[in-house]
Amino acid sequence: MRAGVNCRWMETKKAAGTFFTKQLMHWHSAHNNRSLPWKEEKEPYKIWLSEIILQQTRAAQGLPYYLRFTEAYPTVQHLAAANDEDAFRLWQGLGYYNRCKNMLATARIITGDLNGCFPVTYEGLLALKGIGPYTAAAIASFAYGLPQAVVDGNVYRVLARYFGIDTPFDTTEGKKEFATLAQQLLDVNDSAGYNQAIMDLGATVCTPALPKCSECPLQAQCTAFRQGTVQLLPVRSKKQAVRNRYFHYLLLVDGDAVWIRKRDGKDIWQNLHEPFLIEHDAPMDVKMLAKHNSFGGLGVRKEPVFEGMLKQKLTHQLIETRFFTLPVKLAVNKHLEGGNWVKFSDLKKLAFPKTIVSFLEKKLYF
Ligand code: SF4
Repeated sequence: MRAGVNCRWMETKKAAGTFFTKQLMHWHSAHNNRSLPWKEEKEPYKIWLSEIILQQTRAAQGLPYYLRFTEAYPTVQHLAAANDEDAFRLWQGLGYYNRCKNMLATARIITGDLNGCFPVTYEGLLALKGIGPYTAAAIASFAYGLPQAVVDGNVYRVLARYFGIDTPFDTTEGKKEFATLAQQLLDVNDSAGYNQAIMDLGATVCTPALPKCSECPLQAQCTAFRQGTVQLLPVRSKKQAVRNRYFHYLLLVDGDAVWIRKRDGKDIWQNLHEPFLIEHDAPMDVKMLAKHNSFGGLGVRKEPVFEGMLKQKLTHQLIETRFFTLPVKLAVNKHLEGGNWVKFSDLKKLAFPKTIVSFLEKKLYF
């Protein structure tokens, strides 16, 4: 690009940026009536809680969880003192359980090492476990008014469409480009208002499917609207393959006791509970299951009874879960490794993944 042309292009981009921020802030003060309990919140603890709950979660789905958590744990000190099992049970059904684990760890660091106070700088917030650039920017701007722009899925979408950016947002280059642009567009005199405005516009007007361009305050200068590329933006580098997994849960039962273990390791559903699991690379019926190596160690000759199947789609995994019951002798399996015998009446005290809760409820074990 020649120097003169380059200069003119930069000017155009700058003007588009000025229009963007001005229109967005006007829309926010005059037309944005999206109401959520954490809006206008200034307490870092509650902002943090809402942002962690809302990661990978729609606002409507996260709302009851936010209300339950703030009621059970009104301050970071209450959360730090929480019983892990109780907190996981409150989180039950929200998925991505690592968020809950990190939240408890961070609450304890803040209470134990930081006098119960959240750091007051962006960098200090970023240093905490489970707090990434987005959450740190949200707390820094909403609680302290610091000039830090948030960049989340809504922001990628609005900026990609308005400026016609086709750099994939999930690459190092894309992340840098969008973060730099977001920071340039920020209204430094009202960072909280600006951040709220762009996220609300993305959630209510510039939505992923069927955006309401006719109601959009940015339409007059929106590149994607002008060029008819709204549905093509933003661009993701590649689709991650979905992994199919086949879980076979055996409810090992003796009288009123059932064998339950706590999940550990780096896999999904960390810290949640489950019955005896046999995972296989394909679905198994009762006959195949009875011949499986893991089944052999249970000292049972009978075939299990098939109780039902449930599917759950996670971000990159499709879990097909089959449930079976199998009467066993507690005495024979007393020391079955990794778990405990739990009374059916005590199951409700434990946190389980959503699929297992659905099954236990359906079979009236809960
Ligand atoms: S005009 Fe349409 S595509 Fe452009 S920012 Fe507004 S809602 Fe999004």
